[in-house]
Amino acid sequence: MNAVEQQFPCRVGDRVTHRRWTVDVRAAARRAGMPEARMADEVAQMAQYFPRWLLTVAVGRELHRCRTCQAVLVFDDGLRCVECQHADKTAPPAARVAWFGVMPPVGIDGLPQVKASLSRGAPAHHVMGTREGLGVFLLVPLVAAYPPGFPATPVDVSYLREFSQLAPTEQVSHTFHMLGQGRMCLFAPGEWYPAMTAREVLQQRGYPHLIKFLNYANGKRDAFAKVS
Ligand SMILES: [Zn+2]
Repeated sequence: MNAVEQQFPCRVGDRVTHRRWTVDVRAAARRAGMPEARMADEVAQMAQYFPRWLLTVAVGRELHRCRTCQAVLVFDDGLRCVECQHADKTAPPAARVAWFGVMPPVGIDGLPQVKASLSRGAPAHHVMGTREGLGVFLLVPLVAAYPPGFPATPVDVSYLREFSQLAPTEQVSHTFHMLGQGRMCLFAPGEWYPAMTAREVLQQRGYPHLIKFLNYANGKRDAFAKVS
């Protein structure tokens, strides 16, 4: 089993450095209630395709953060604060092992209504920027949590509360495939299969949901319609 490193930018005085650690797969597997080999595979795939995402813990879509400094907790020799490095003893059993990070950039020059609603800047934790060839883009953070019973039941992927500035994430809808409280509805009955990893769910289901949802928010009412 190959060790996987994660990193996080930390400010030391007026310098930004990167703190690095080896993901404690055993601790994450124990908390998630999944075999260590499965968690190792989940971690390895995320490292390859979403290398900046952090393995952390969340209650629903809310990250459970360090009690001392409110920074993100990571699996570094147990569950530990990424900033102050205190071992965390406060995460309740309901805090699920979860991935947190941003999706690849989505160009919004072709989405004028969405762009207009971002005229005062991106929602908290979201990032706007400009890149040659892509134009103005948006980085949208998501939380992908392993539910109790995974992998019999699928990974839960959620938008943060702040995304509701752009699209109606709090509603339950068949039109835009939301389960409410930010949770994406990603699988029709029978579509989930237990070998599917969080990386695959994010790439094959989560990212398309984001693109469709932004198109819906831009006025395309049939953004989620199946093309047959
Ligand atoms: Zn801390």
